[in-house]
Amino acid sequence: MSEFTLEAVVCKSCGSGLSVEVNDNIVYCTSCGNGFEEIDSEMKSIEINFANAAFRSEGELIYKPFWLLNTSITILERKATGNFIKNLFGGSGEFTGGDILFYIPAFYCKIESMEDLSKQFTLKNPVASPQKYNSKLTGFAYGKEDAAKLAEFILISLEAEKSDVIKSFRYEMKINSYSILGIPFYDNKNGMLKDSVLGIDILED
Ligand SMILES: [Zn+2]
Repeated sequence: MSEFTLEAVVCKSCGSGLSVEVNDNIVYCTSCGNGFEEIDSEMKSIEINFANAAFRSEGELIYKPFWLLNTSITILERKATGNFIKNLFGGSGEFTGGDILFYIPAFYCKIESMEDLSKQFTLKNPVASPQKYNSKLTGFAYGKEDAAKLAEFILISLEAEKSDVIKSFRYEMKINSYSILGIPFYDNKNGMLKDSVLGIDILED
């Protein structure tokens, strides 16, 4: 029979006790608003902010973590058949690019929900001024590498949706920075969660 001990985790900045779940490698200090990511058993600082709920709904408001990936994209080549010649950046040329802020769920959810949340949040970029909240933020399941892979998948699928048939698409994605954004969801206790920014329903896992 295995035993496990729950270590007391203390904030490196202010000394407050931190609320962590067993698998969390990222913690948010509700006392001082600093975030930490465990990398090679060291606690490194990471920026953590929260989004405001944009509307009221039934259910308890809980926060789920997202990665925010600030990226610069360069489109090296893009060939498609069909009427849509504009790409994500609105240009009609084959060679263009721009900056995209990707919103990628860091919490565990079904792949369909993850894709839906990532695409809609990334396209709408609805959180203009994230803030520090005194809110619990736990349930981190995916790390930076996972988030970067999903961002590439989202880029390709958004681009592919814009044309009838995409024949070639080559790009470079440079990730300028990573941070964490807590997005509020309404948990109405019937197995569904509704995010309170865009109103997307997902299955609770
Ligand atoms: Zn602290």
